Parts: sequence; structure tokens; C-alpha cells
Amino acid sequence: MALIVQKFGGTSVGTVERIEQVADKVKKFREAGNDLVIVLSAMSGETNRLIDLAKQISDQPLPRELDMIVSTGEQVTIGLLSMALNKRGVPAVSYTGSQVRILTDSSHTKARILKIDDQKIRADLKAGRVVVVAGFQGVDEFGNITTLGRGGSDTTGVALAAALKADECQIYTDVDGVYTTDPRVVAKAQRLEKITFEEMLEMASLGSKVLQIRAVEFAGKYNVPLRVLHSFKEGPGTLITIDEEESMEQPIISGIAFNRDEAKLTIRGVPDTPGVAFKILGPISAANIEVDMIVQNVAHDNTTDFTFTVHRNDYSAAQSVLENTAREIGAREVVGDTNIAKVSIVGVGMRSHAGVASRMFESLAKENINILMISTSEIKVSVVIEEKYLELAVRSLHTAFDLDAPARQGE
Ligand code: ADP
Ligand code: ASP
Ligand code: MG
Repeated sequence: MALIVQKFGGTSVGTVERIEQVADKVKKFREAGNDLVIVLSAMSGETNRLIDLAKQISDQPLPRELDMIVSTGEQVTIGLLSMALNKRGVPAVSYTGSQVRILTDSSHTKARILKIDDQKIRADLKAGRVVVVAGFQGVDEFGNITTLGRGGSDTTGVALAAALKADECQIYTDVDGVYTTDPRVVAKAQRLEKITFEEMLEMASLGSKVLQIRAVEFAGKYNVPLRVLHSFKEGPGTLITIDEEESMEQPIISGIAFNRDEAKLTIRGVPDTPGVAFKILGPISAANIEVDMIVQNVAHDNTTDFTFTVHRNDYSAAQSVLENTAREIGAREVVGDTNIAKVSIVGVGMRSHAGVASRMFESLAKENINILMISTSEIKVSVVIEEKYLELAVRSLHTAFDLDAPARQGE
């Protein structure tokens, strides 16, 4: 008998009919003799609706109160699924994060899980019940409800699987696995049989929202067998694994990630003295703004230009900090651009292949796409380009790195 944690995402529980379908599926797994812990998201669109309500009261909602509001979405779906299971003769019980006691730190809206109390769940499993847990939420040491960041139900699923030493954590969603790139953007994207934790972590952190980054971190750290599957279609899905298979078939690139969440700021004509980077980025980090890519140009005329990217939500704040800095250090001007996008190629195969970056640049050049910034690491190359070229860039890289689905090649 296996212990399986199954997480169902927002579209999979988006209507009462879907919840009934999930209940049918869970019933089948239960009848096959498995112990089951089910983690649910809110109905799709619900978290956005709740955030919107809060924003009608204040455009900067108090984080503690926002968590109070958005955590209700998951409370509805767990109650409904538990009812649907009991209606089918499958004993089940629902719990909020606080009832389980998923203890988190107090960073409202982006809390981290510190500890999970497994006693209540184990007792229910032992009594033959399916346990249905609200994803995305926890409780801090003071009893405040916290949430884990958007997409956080994935992390609840993986963290519960780790705490219970489950045989597998299955993430059920509206696609049948992890693809070479977002299948909604590139029709020729292919499902991957397997992807390594390391690659999945890069894909998630570079913008592929199919799994929350922290869920992948957790799964890697605690070695949780993790699989992404379609909620309502049969299939093997994608296994996230530790092995890096040394096969001849190993593709150089496993996937292409992209995001439109960043904005670029440049401070021009900065007097080029030691400590420039610190003078510019120190106040940015003091304002709690995270910086992603950084480029400093070679100095000429004893001045330099310095460019970096931040999350679009932080753009205005970063711009005003930078304008202050510019006045203080006597820089010429600050310019910014929010219409940018980042495209990244990811693959452990890159380690053993030279020339991957230049192949990427060549393919973008062929499409006349200008590269604004570049950054590389051992298993990824990222470029910033104008946002309007994003889809073209992803499609041409997908072809250039031989990722297009074979059946449709040459279409
Ligand atoms: P859920 O509500 O089930 O958590 P999400 O919307 O968070 O679902 O994640 C699934 C979506 O992730 C897919 O519908 C797909 O558009 C998107 N996605 C982005 N990149 C990828 C990828 N590489 N493989 C599969 N899906 C991806
Ligand atoms: N409902 C939350 C969200 O929309 C958490 C999740 O679905 O994973 O972000
Ligand atoms: Mg999700």
C-alpha cells in the first residue's frame, strides 16, 4: 500500500462538476488500496478575485489581512471535495493549514514552511480516511494565517509529501506534464518524460509557472519523488528526477523558459570610480528591491553606464531610488524600459557542449531580434529582448535547439 500526496490545481477544481470528477478519481486511487492526502488550490480565478476585493479597500493591502482574505479560497474547495468523497462512501476529512499545523515564518504573502505536524494526518490515515488539506496556507507561531506566495499549493503538496515520507507527490494540473516550453505559447512543444530537479528549478525560477520554485526546492532537498500529470487525462506525465542520464540521446537543451515580469533601468554617465556598483545597488537593496540581471559597460571618458533589471512591480520604486542616487553621485541620467522580456534556455547537457550560447545568439540574429542583456550560468543562458519579439524568439529557439515535436516538424 502506497502513501500518495495528490495536489489538484485551480482549473482542476474550478467548478463543482470538476470537484466531483476529482472525487471520482480520488475514489479510484483509494479503492486501489492507497493512503491518500489531497492538497487543493482555490477554484481558478478565485485568488485573483479575492486580491481584487482587497485592492478595492486599499491599493496596498495590509499583508496580514490579505492572507486572511486569500486563504479562504482553498477553504471552500477542500470542504466541497471532502463532501463529494463522503457522498461516494469514501470517508474523508478536510483541514486548513492551521488545523494541520503547517507552521511557517511570519512573512505574510510569501511565508516559508518551517515545520509540519504530521500527527493528525497520520491518525486520520490510520482510521481509513482520505485527508484533504488546503494548499497555499499555513500559520505562524502567533496563530496568524499566512500564505506561501502565488502557486504555493504546489509547495504545500511537496512539503506534506516530505513530512509524511510519501511514496510519491503527484501534481495534477491542466497540462499532461512539463513541456519543453509553455505549450500554450509554442504549439510544437513536447512533453518531457523526465527532467532533473536542477533543470526544473531553473525553468521555474526563469518563469515556467507549471511548478512553484519552492516546491521544486523542497522536492530536491528532501528527495521527494515528484510527478506532474493531467488531472483528467491518463498518461505518465513528467517525472522530476535526480539522475542526469548519460545517454547519447541527451538533448543539450531541455527547455525554454521566459517571463514578462521584469523591467530594465539604466543609469548613464556615472563617474567611474571604485565602488560604483555598490553606490548604485546598495540603496536598491536597502529598499528591499531584488535585482536580477546586471550589466556595466566599459568606461569611456571616465564615465560608465550601468543597467540592471528588477521585477516590474518594483519598477517605480527602483526608478525613484536610482534618480536620487544619480543626483548624489553626479550621473547624467536615468532611463528605463518596462517593455522587455527574458528568454532562457536551460539544460544540464550544456555542461558538456561548447557553443550553446552562440547558437542561441545566431538564431535570434536570424530573426533580427536585438539582445539587450545576457547572463549565463552552468546550465542556462538568459537574454533580455524587447517584449514584442518574445514569442518569435521562443519559437525560433525551440526549432534551433531541435525541440519541436517530430510529428509536426516542417509544418
Ligand atoms: P495549476 O492551477 O494546476 O497550478 P498552473 O496554471 O499554475 O496550474 O500551471 C500550469 C500551466 O503552466 C500550464 O497551463 C501552462 O500554460 C504553464 N506552463 C508554463 N511553462 C510550462 C512548461 N514548460 N510545461 C508545461 N506547462 C507550462
Ligand atoms: N490559489 C493560490 C494561487 O492562485 C495558490 C495555488 O493555486 O497554488 O496562487
Ligand atoms: Mg500552479
